Amino acid sequence: MYNSVDMPQFTTIASYRDIPIAELARAKLESEGIPCHLLNKHHIGVNWLYSQALGGVQLQVLSEDAQQARQILDADESASLESEDLDFPELDDTDYCERCGSANLELVDYKRLSGALILLTQFWLLFWGRKYKCKECGHKMKKG
Ligand SMILES: [Zn+2]
Repeated sequence: MYNSVDMPQFTTIASYRDIPIAELARAKLESEGIPCHLLNKHHIGVNWLYSQALGGVQLQVLSEDAQQARQILDADESASLESEDLDFPELDDTDYCERCGSANLELVDYKRLSGALILLTQFWLLFWGRKYKCKECGHKMKKG
């Protein structure tokens, strides 16, 4: 039986140097219905150097959820690492401007934009996408 007088026992399952990455992990766990919180987050937000001294932002879950939480994060890790290392995609030879048919396209750099958005939202991956601009007529297209 759960005794409401007892403090819930939290355990650290991961630590992160960067708050946005920690927030992504936290959002992932919460989307799976696992209660969790970030320890040291506010200290680190004030001064990033504290991150080293405090051992990073610590992601904590209830002890009883620890095993499941680790599995979720492990399963997610390869995907998130892939996203981080992803270079901006190359233009395909088969892409043409929808409006004038020119192949003279350039990628609009949304990587920097998503880098800023990561500080504002946990859903920065939603903003990831290829966007092209035609150098001939200025028409913008979104792909993939
Ligand atoms: Zn065009």
